[in-house]
Amino acid sequence: MLMIFNTETRQKEQFRPIHDGHIQMYVCGMTVYDYCHIGHARVLVSFDVITRYLRSRGYSVDYVRNITDIDDKIIKRANENNETIEALTTRYIAAMDEDAAALGVIKPNKEPKATEFVPEIVAMVQKLIDNGLAYPAANGDVYYAVNKFASYGRLSHKNTDDLQAGARVDVDEAKKNPMDFVLWKAAKPNEPFWVSPWGNGRPGWHIECSAMSTCCLGNHFDIHGGGGDLQFPHHENEIAQSEGATGEKYVNTWMHVGFVQINDEKMSKSLNNFFTIREVLKLFAPEVLRYFITASHYRSPLNFSDEALTQAKSALERFYHTLKGLPIAAAQGGESFIARFNEAMDDDFNTPEAMAVLYELAREVNRADKTGEAEVAAGLAGRLRELGAVLGLLQDNPERFLQGFAQDGLSDADIDAQIRARQESKKNKDFAGADKIRAGLLAQGIVLEDSRQGTTWRRE
Ligand SMILES: [Zn+2]
Repeated sequence: MLMIFNTETRQKEQFRPIHDGHIQMYVCGMTVYDYCHIGHARVLVSFDVITRYLRSRGYSVDYVRNITDIDDKIIKRANENNETIEALTTRYIAAMDEDAAALGVIKPNKEPKATEFVPEIVAMVQKLIDNGLAYPAANGDVYYAVNKFASYGRLSHKNTDDLQAGARVDVDEAKKNPMDFVLWKAAKPNEPFWVSPWGNGRPGWHIECSAMSTCCLGNHFDIHGGGGDLQFPHHENEIAQSEGATGEKYVNTWMHVGFVQINDEKMSKSLNNFFTIREVLKLFAPEVLRYFITASHYRSPLNFSDEALTQAKSALERFYHTLKGLPIAAAQGGESFIARFNEAMDDDFNTPEAMAVLYELAREVNRADKTGEAEVAAGLAGRLRELGAVLGLLQDNPERFLQGFAQDGLSDADIDAQIRARQESKKNKDFAGADKIRAGLLAQGIVLEDSRQGTTWRRE
């Protein structure tokens, strides 16, 4: 029985898809004006693990993750760079794809872009006006009248009276009520625009997700996810828009990923503790970052530090030491581990528990290996790789992984060339020369290990 914590009800609920065996999931993706940071990495990896697990249990998953390719930040950045919006967003979409691929994140089934859905967005705004839930203002903006949607606040558990008391109006806004939010923004001079019944303008951020999720998945679907900061107002507004437009229930299960902190502080550019995925991947192998993210439950806060990443690296190395030297074999045996792994994942995707099962399985592989049960060890190692794949882990070549990660030092090719030179020296009985090469590599943090099978190496 799969239990998922639903943000809306604040409890774990038994999950039943709307259509048997088929799950429709929409996750709010990136606004593409800069490189993805590790908060983004957490959202990418968490929903990747969720998708992988659901597929491993036989569900077909239709996974949609949108791309916001028009908004204030994008317009501002393109102006600063003196380039077109399209050039900017194309570049950062490519960078996002690279980062996601490096982290082993499987591509969603659909990645709709806001600019490709403007007619659908305009139609939804018109529907909300027709239904009496939205109004065009004198300045050319269109606003959602929050007071007209009876259950507003039900996702974030906010009370509209409190919101009303706390809301302020900017002088340049033409809202009837400070709580109202924008659906369509009138174009300012020199801004990109689309033609609409309310004049030239562009979509507000919230409406794009309502329109794209409905276009891709229908009015009512199973799971809507995103970062925890999107609960309010973004997802609250999506409910008001979608249910206001269609009159149907929008989403059954809302899932939100916890925050990432840096050394126990909020991650922010102003505190100078802001890390992009590619900065981290210069220092650590992608599976290390993935392991670090997966080792915590997706809803818990995640504290990023050098020390935590180094611990993740050591833990992952222990798994690869277990796998090193064992043949790549089909999974065999260890059925009780599958059952326990699935039990952990069925409990709101409890990845720390699932990983604890993998540790035990690794111990079992080591035991069988030590006692000379080669076939058993190989079969269980196959099982370990198979369950690891559900988390997107343990998919590297063990020897390659344990060689470590090239930072600024010698490349793998340099090291291989030196090892060949050392072999050549030995063949010519130039043992002093061979030792000198070994010492030279060691000085650069490369340890050579000679065995009957040949020479392997690892980075210290
Ligand atoms: Zn969204």
